[in-house]
Amino acid sequence: MVRVKAAEEIRKLIKTLPLEQRRIFSIVAHIDHGKSTMCDYLLARAGMLSFDLAGQRRLTDYDEEEQRRIITIFTTVVNLLYEYNGKPYLLTLNDTPGHISFTGEVSRAIRASDGVILLVDAAEGIMTQTETNLYLSLLERCKPVLYINKADRLIREFKCTPREFVARIDQIIRGINKLIEKYAPDEKTRKEWKVSFIKGTVAVGSAKDGWGFTIKTLMKRFGSDPKEAVQKGIKRIFELYEAGDIETLKKEFPLDEAILEMVIEHLPDPKTAQPYKIQAIWQGDKDIDAYKAMLNVDQNGPLVGMITKIFIHPKTFRPVLIGRIWSGTLKVGKPLYLLSARREAVPRRIGVMEITDILDVDAIPAGNMFAMAGFIVPAGEAFIEKDVAEKYMQLIEEGRFGFEPIPYASEPVVTRVIRPKNPGDIDKLAQVAQLWTSADPTARFFIDRESNTYVLMGVDPLQIEILTKRIAMKVPINVEPPIIVYRERVTKRGEEVWTKSPNALNKLCLYVEPLEEEIAEAIKKGLIRADQDPKERARILHKRFGWPADIARKVIDVWETNILINATVGVQYFDRVKDYIIATFRKFCNEGPLAKEPVQNLKVVLVDAKIHEDPAHTTFAQIFTMTWAGLAVSFLTANPTLYEPITRVDIKVPTQFMGAVMSLLQKKRGRILETEMVEDLVHIIAAVPTAETIDLANELRSVSQGRAFFGYQFLKWERVPSNMVKDLILQIRRRKGLPEKIPTIEDFARFLYVRQ
Ligand code: GDP
Repeated sequence: MVRVKAAEEIRKLIKTLPLEQRRIFSIVAHIDHGKSTMCDYLLARAGMLSFDLAGQRRLTDYDEEEQRRIITIFTTVVNLLYEYNGKPYLLTLNDTPGHISFTGEVSRAIRASDGVILLVDAAEGIMTQTETNLYLSLLERCKPVLYINKADRLIREFKCTPREFVARIDQIIRGINKLIEKYAPDEKTRKEWKVSFIKGTVAVGSAKDGWGFTIKTLMKRFGSDPKEAVQKGIKRIFELYEAGDIETLKKEFPLDEAILEMVIEHLPDPKTAQPYKIQAIWQGDKDIDAYKAMLNVDQNGPLVGMITKIFIHPKTFRPVLIGRIWSGTLKVGKPLYLLSARREAVPRRIGVMEITDILDVDAIPAGNMFAMAGFIVPAGEAFIEKDVAEKYMQLIEEGRFGFEPIPYASEPVVTRVIRPKNPGDIDKLAQVAQLWTSADPTARFFIDRESNTYVLMGVDPLQIEILTKRIAMKVPINVEPPIIVYRERVTKRGEEVWTKSPNALNKLCLYVEPLEEEIAEAIKKGLIRADQDPKERARILHKRFGWPADIARKVIDVWETNILINATVGVQYFDRVKDYIIATFRKFCNEGPLAKEPVQNLKVVLVDAKIHEDPAHTTFAQIFTMTWAGLAVSFLTANPTLYEPITRVDIKVPTQFMGAVMSLLQKKRGRILETEMVEDLVHIIAAVPTAETIDLANELRSVSQGRAFFGYQFLKWERVPSNMVKDLILQIRRRKGLPEKIPTIEDFARFLYVRQ
């Protein structure tokens, strides 16, 4: 049933194949559950081995780094051509990395897909990433089907009887459905998207041994009675294992057939999926042509597309932009307008992605994924045709034309300082690092001018390690050990303070207070932004969060989860210094006064000011010093403290090790959130301060004699216990080479303005 793929044929089908015969989907899984092995199997069966990549052990893992770590780092996109029931089907597969470090990539692959194969290890069961990936998929309206992999382990290692085998499969299915119940964003997904073996939305198999089945493939072989077919099928599989006859197993129960049957029969085509998916991810006006065209996957409508991945070729380092066309047709050389970057760009080359190469196609219509080259923007960018941008410009400027920001399940909590070995490489380093961080926006990169160091921030130590290795391939660098990043926060309203500029000719009065948690969340979700139409932002703050209308209108900046409000009235020349005040506010938020850690959830209110009429006296240096002093003093009177990142640690371990694991967690300041017995395993979910997790993996292995399964994920920020704060601040200051003293109000006394 599988045909060797042909480039010419794919080129033609991209434009002509009815949408009903296409599927765009991702495979998501917890690390090591077997995704890459399963993908390779599909690729090999689709004839991809005839490509010049053939002979490599694992096709989707072209990156050496990946080979070594045995995890998939990039989301590779590949188009597969299959014949099913006499018709050609074009499947676009978004492979995704399994490690939490790359959740950004997973989120974006899911944004571009209509469905997911959720892959679960039969022995290990549902793990952290299974849950996160399922949650993200449902949120993005990607319909899930379930593939339970490594079923061979149940037979060979766990010595299950056929009855126990079935019970184990059922248990995983129930667990997945419980999660769907929990995370379904609406009634439709909750009702219609639960997985069911009998309905055919579950496959079971072994990617390593190359076999698998669904109810349908079993019934094809063993007759129309489902119960009997399952019994006979499982009996046969057990027999073949008994006989050690894997070759016959592969022939009688081909894995690709089971998976493809499930994908084609149960994952939606773009025409079916786009109406509800677009409705969920579009946050602009709905009574416009472009929106209707997206719902209808109209290839002749206005072009709207989204870049969901920046692929950087591992050898040439040339960036390729990959994404999805929702409506209209993408054409080579035809200018685009980028919605967030607010500029034009021209695709010089377009086509579809085939693992690491672009297969050139001159036009890509809606309902396809594309690959293009010629310019670079961060992943997540949306675009329209330049010619029609004019028509929507007003809406774009008012924030009424665009998509919901792509949700990420993690935020940066770890940094590593990097320096070029050769100081002359500074510019080159900045360039290379920026290229990689635009490919993975969950990582950040910035230059600390004071210490002349480069800082990479990421979601966990592994991500940073991989990024630094990639950077080092182009620029030789020295890398320092990973450091946990804390946050500085105030816990009550600070005093209203007047400060003056060093020349005493300008004055400013302000106070700070904690920003409401739900507003910080809204900023993280992109609902409230700096680049938003101020009226729209005021409306949201007032209507949704109950801010007084006059205050809501006075927001002049949003930076990370901090807000600056200009509540002054009738201050002359204020506009001249406004940008200086905003710049100071941003810098203050990047490096708080306690230990130069980022400030979180701060609301700054400017109350009054006097600005000198002569611009010579209102230079940046004057305004900066005055504003900084005001922010610092009010901050220091607002009971400031440090917050630390907390990691959710998910552990499954045989019951006899439970005691040892519990006491290890306790030693690590861990809090148990949940424990559950699953057969002879105990499943422990704990909240552990991230600082304590750096060596946790090794210690867990040692206390459980290597028998623990575990996963990590960022959970939340939490106040550092009060008895630890002072030492921690001093420790961070020492590390950064700052004076070993916590700043006090007296440090700023000379800038305080005492009114007569
Ligand atoms: P990924 O991290 O999800 O991409 O996982 P991989 O495909 O790299 O697989 C992780 C490990 O599990 C590798 O050592 C594979 O050989 C092994 N593996 C994959 N599929 C199976 C399977 O069906 N049965 C068994 N026993 N091992 C498997």
